Amino acid sequence: MTKKVSRIGVLTSGGDAPGMNAAIRAVVRTSLYYGLEVYGIMRGYQGIIDEDIFKMEGRSVANIIQRGGTILKTARCKEFYEAEGRRKAYENLKKRGIDGLVIIGGDGSFRGAVKFSQEYDIPCIGIAGTIDKDIHGSDYTIGFDTAVNTAIQAIDKIRDTMDAHDRIFIIEVMGRDAGYIALHSGIATGAENILIPERKTNIKDIIHSLQEKERRKKLVNLIVVAEGDEFGGAVEVEKILKEHLPKAEIRVAILGHIQRGGSPTGIDRLIASRMGYHAVECLMEGKHNVFVGILNNRMHYIPLEKAVKNKGSISEEWMKIVKILAS
Ligand code: ADP
Repeated sequence: MTKKVSRIGVLTSGGDAPGMNAAIRAVVRTSLYYGLEVYGIMRGYQGIIDEDIFKMEGRSVANIIQRGGTILKTARCKEFYEAEGRRKAYENLKKRGIDGLVIIGGDGSFRGAVKFSQEYDIPCIGIAGTIDKDIHGSDYTIGFDTAVNTAIQAIDKIRDTMDAHDRIFIIEVMGRDAGYIALHSGIATGAENILIPERKTNIKDIIHSLQEKERRKKLVNLIVVAEGDEFGGAVEVEKILKEHLPKAEIRVAILGHIQRGGSPTGIDRLIASRMGYHAVECLMEGKHNVFVGILNNRMHYIPLEKAVKNKGSISEEWMKIVKILAS
């Protein structure tokens, strides 16, 4: 293995996701195994600008693989959008001899890394960490599986009370731009309808089928809505349905931030460990400006720009499955 770097900086940026700690652990332990120094950077890009950087050892990451959140904290950093902020960041890294960065974050963090690496000669390797799974080019992102499982557990509980009372429940899950959490948790809980940002919803069809159920006195229905669906989330969907079903008992539950927390699932720990290991290998091989993704269970290195430019899509087949299985 050739060594193109000697000091790696690792940070978590943007929205946090369960499994980020497992990725940090893998980056640190792999770096040390190969004789590299590794520095933890607090609060994403903000920590580079503020020089909140510390040397990490093997024991710095002991007992964190099972913990949600991120020991390095995360933040949204306004200064990094500006050329001056990035210049400051570069100087602070240079001063410490940090010659490679591992960025664990979402597409926004990758956009920042693209800008930074176009301007300065510090290679950046991304690790896709986002519960939304909205990074094109990877079958997995760290945190998605945990978030889906958290949503499933919550929806199962709500379904019990929904059934007991013959109610319509509209449950909002996270996903401002991406409907993957809604789609996966909705299918896994047997939702009758799933509303996602990527696809138009035929609300008339939903109203019609609910009216039909009401007529048959069987008005139990589970609707899972991504927060960024075309109507603007569960509360807005409720308003529309109420207009057409004034007598129906409709309840809304917004799952919110519980989806970001909790101990990562086995899948998230595993992919985080693999991605962390490969990110360090990438830097050592002299790769730059790529992120580590998994496609068909194999590691791939995808240009950071591609993750940023291409939005994922959800095929018609998924929606057909929802419809058939709920009928
Ligand atoms: P996520 O990584 O979860 O998508 P954000 O979109 O908030 O989260 O991005 C995280 C951080 O990445 C931002 O606060 C900012 O510091 C940096 N960033 C995002 N987009 C850009 C950009 N176009 N130029 C420079 N920095 C950016």
